[in-house]
Amino acid sequence: MSKLSWPHSLVFKALVLVVVIGLIVVFTQHRLYEKDRELGQVVIQRNLALMQLMAENHVEELVRDAEFIANSPVLKNYLRSMSPYALAPAQEAFWVLSTLRPQYDQIRYIDRFGIEQIRVNRRNGQSELVTDDLQVKSDRDYVRKGLALKPGETALSPFELNRENGRIEVPYRPALRAIARLGEVGEYYTPGIVVINGNADQLIHRLVTALPATSELILLNEQGGWLAGGGDQDWQFSITPSATFASSHPSLWESIKSSQTGQFELAGECYNYTWHSYREGEVSSPRWLIGQRRVDAPCTTELLDNVQQGGLRFAIAFGLSFPLLLLWHRASARKRELVSNLEARNEELRLIANESGHGLLRVDAQGCVEWMNREAERLLGWKEADLEGQNLHETCHQFEDGESLHKGPCPTLEALQTGQTYRSEHERMLDRSGSIVHLTMSVSTYGEGGERRAIVAISDIGSHIEMEKTLTELATTDSLTGALNRRSLLQQLDVWTTNATNPPCLLMLDIDHFKRVNDTYGHNAGDRVLKAFSSQIMELLRKGDVFARTGGEEFVVAIRNLSLADASALAERIRMAVAGIECQTDNGDIIRITTSIGVAIYQEGESVEQLLARADGALYRAKHGGRDQVRVG
Ligand code: GH3
Ligand code: MG
Ligand code: MG
Repeated sequence: MSKLSWPHSLVFKALVLVVVIGLIVVFTQHRLYEKDRELGQVVIQRNLALMQLMAENHVEELVRDAEFIANSPVLKNYLRSMSPYALAPAQEAFWVLSTLRPQYDQIRYIDRFGIEQIRVNRRNGQSELVTDDLQVKSDRDYVRKGLALKPGETALSPFELNRENGRIEVPYRPALRAIARLGEVGEYYTPGIVVINGNADQLIHRLVTALPATSELILLNEQGGWLAGGGDQDWQFSITPSATFASSHPSLWESIKSSQTGQFELAGECYNYTWHSYREGEVSSPRWLIGQRRVDAPCTTELLDNVQQGGLRFAIAFGLSFPLLLLWHRASARKRELVSNLEARNEELRLIANESGHGLLRVDAQGCVEWMNREAERLLGWKEADLEGQNLHETCHQFEDGESLHKGPCPTLEALQTGQTYRSEHERMLDRSGSIVHLTMSVSTYGEGGERRAIVAISDIGSHIEMEKTLTELATTDSLTGALNRRSLLQQLDVWTTNATNPPCLLMLDIDHFKRVNDTYGHNAGDRVLKAFSSQIMELLRKGDVFARTGGEEFVVAIRNLSLADASALAERIRMAVAGIECQTDNGDIIRITTSIGVAIYQEGESVEQLLARADGALYRAKHGGRDQVRVG
């Protein structure tokens, strides 16, 4: 087997497979990744939007409730009268609101001096009206801020931890306060404020419900203080103002502050955030940063997941397809081996065919040439490339006008139809120039139906025909003079005398004193004289007349359709013509000859020998009569 070329090697095919599978996996995985990332972003945006909405509702409720209670007639009634009878319904209203809104830690009315007048606490799931521990809160920021509001205005305080008696209450009670300044109540009365401490933990718990288990809530105030999601940093800004995200990551914080929404990565975890603040009419809250942190997952999680998935898919696809590749490789290697063997065989056959000496052609079921060897090319004058695909019968068995060389059906086509072998010792075909070529031909078929083919073997017999002609000539004629020999004459006379309707005349000629010519001028000169004598006589004869050399210088002319008189006249013309022959020797001498002729016409019933004997007798008499004369026998 020939050495395996690089494109056919298993390594090359495996590399191609790797590249193809790689490209497919990269392409599909990239699309999946895009979808994953898009979906991830949609989910994140949805989470953030949901949390914003929750915060918005929470704060709005807080503000509305503060305004509602601040404008409640019972409170105003109490403030107008400041009577204990009016206090009770006002306290009742505060208590009822507290029971309706368990997320409020405290609901208070604080008068214009910063002193708590009505206070309902929510502790351990119970609403509790406090009457004996009303405190002065005038030093608190939210009180100062609230009393600075115009009557009827509402404000929100930032998130902060609740302080009791100047100390931060433990456990931490983070609060978001709504402060509503009461409208004018009476001419001599300056209104105080309603303060509701919304429990920030409640809000935080609600926000957490918007997130999947894989993410954690992050909530920071505008200064970067952790409200949620900072672990032990949560609320620390209330105790140590510098314990903020802003101070631990100042430059990151700067960029976070400058964009409304965004994403960043910290310690291998991905953060998504949006800034949120409540704003409704005159009421506005500080900004909070609401966001989510994906636990232990960087922002490139989708990418890494997809790369990992892609790797796995590639390995599976390669693992599954490699055995197939191996099978295919083996099969194609086997096929190549068979094809190469076949080609070698074909080459071998072609060589054998070329060396066989026969012209060989292979034709298909329709008689079209598929293949031919060099001898066939030589015999028919066609190149294989030119004859290939052409119908052998139409090309080599038909003249241009469509007339067939063959009387019957084309033997090749017939052999293809019947499946029988055809042989002919003498077949004729046309070569490329239109000349007829004489051939032996055999047509052998193989295969069945439309797959049947035939091998046409042809051999040149032109030279045989020539040779036969030469041999025949040699056998029937005299080589020196070209006249027929004695045997041919006798055969011809046999035929003519058998069919006696047209009997022959014989002229028997003998050159006079020929021996002397030989003796005087030599044998060669004698031969020359014999040739001149013969050609002179043949000139006087017509087609169909027979002229034969029966001995050394003895000849016979046999003619049909001639009377004895005409034969004698012809003999006389011959005699005279012979006498006129002048044959020059090499020495320049002129040889002249004469001939004696005996004439006899065939008589019914006699044999050829008898006829010849009568002519011979006449010749004998001519000799004895003095030579150079004609006698009739
Ligand atoms: P006649 O007039 O009685 O016929 O006398 P002739 O000399 O012709 O007769 P003869 O039979 O005695 O001689 C024939 C001669 O022809 C003898 C022979 O040498 C010669 N001869 C026969 N065949 C050939 C030939 O093929 N070539 C040559 N040059 N001579 C031949
Ligand atoms: Mg003689
Ligand atoms: Mg003689």
